Amino acid sequence: GATIGILGGGQLGRMLAMAAARLGYRCHIFEPGAAPAADVSHGWTQAPYDDLDALRRFAQGCDLITFEFENIPAPALDVLSRTTPLFPDRRALETSQDRLVEKTFLAGLGLATASFAPIDTAADLATALTATGTPAIFKTRRFGYDGKGQARVMDPEGAPAALASLKGAPAIAEGFVRFSREISVIAARGRDGRVAAYDPGENVHQDGILATTSVPTALPLKLRTDAVLIASRILTALDYVGVMGVELFVTPEGLIVNEIAPRVHNSGHWTQAGCAVDQFEQHIRAIAGWPLGNGARHANVVMENLIGDDIARAAALAAEPGVQVHLYGKAEARSGRKMGHVNRVTGPA
Ligand code: ATP
Ligand code: MG
Ligand code: MG
Repeated sequence: GATIGILGGGQLGRMLAMAAARLGYRCHIFEPGAAPAADVSHGWTQAPYDDLDALRRFAQGCDLITFEFENIPAPALDVLSRTTPLFPDRRALETSQDRLVEKTFLAGLGLATASFAPIDTAADLATALTATGTPAIFKTRRFGYDGKGQARVMDPEGAPAALASLKGAPAIAEGFVRFSREISVIAARGRDGRVAAYDPGENVHQDGILATTSVPTALPLKLRTDAVLIASRILTALDYVGVMGVELFVTPEGLIVNEIAPRVHNSGHWTQAGCAVDQFEQHIRAIAGWPLGNGARHANVVMENLIGDDIARAAALAAEPGVQVHLYGKAEARSGRKMGHVNRVTGPA
């Protein structure tokens, strides 16, 4: 069978490799650190993303390459794509690596986003706050996740300190969205351009980290349909191939797109218990040119992340009826670290 290369050796890479194995593929992982994904793969390369020789050898050994980690540097992408097809492609990566590029792209599609403006230096603060008003959120343009690299700005007087807390990284100011709920759509687009989306899930965060995703959401059908149509617009506009996560805010004025992730997404883990074809198999199907699963949901599910010491509860959770346990094989249960998740089936769809 063919070999699929996966950049990134975390839990998403692990679950992609497991899905790929079920479809008869071999997987090779590329990861700078020690990696729980590696022990379910057929081989792995531990090297940094600036080791271009290691990347070249990795790419030469793969028939196609995908990723679970979107911050792959441009020179690495150059080397990989010289020998081997990359799905999703570089445009999707470059659009989502930088919040300013991402928001500009989304607004360019006519989609609603928070108001936003770039902040490169303190001299930009007044102009930026004119665009966003207060309260606002300052975010680093690159590398942020789990709410890291963000600062709340309650009034213009607080802006310089908020900017300073980002330590000189290029930043974006966003107007504060007064949302009632956060939802996400996990959608896939195949090599033939067909799109399949899962039902939107409702997300609850704790300390900036996703805590639970529940399906179905309590939203009216109109909003659920809007969410899926928005995701579909984004995938098609990027000529995307693979699974994407689209995060949205629900407001009285309708849906606002927060951010996109060009990969399988934590808020899509419920599909493992709710759908015949989960997001991991769906991604492998999309990039390898298989027909997509239709996204239909057969169960109501609550996904709960096991973060840090939560992993101690895994056995007790496993004893509950209808609970599926997924552990990532990480050595150390550091606080804030995603160690596993459970999918609790709460009833038929
Ligand atoms: P992730 O781990 O999902 O990648 P992230 O670090 O990239 O997160 P965001 O998703 O942009 O960050 O923001 C984290 C959370 O902060 C959001 O889920 C939402 O609760 C809140 N938030 C972000 N932007 C705004 C905004 N403009 N207005 C109000 N709340 C916001
Ligand atoms: Mg993010
Ligand atoms: Mg987010």
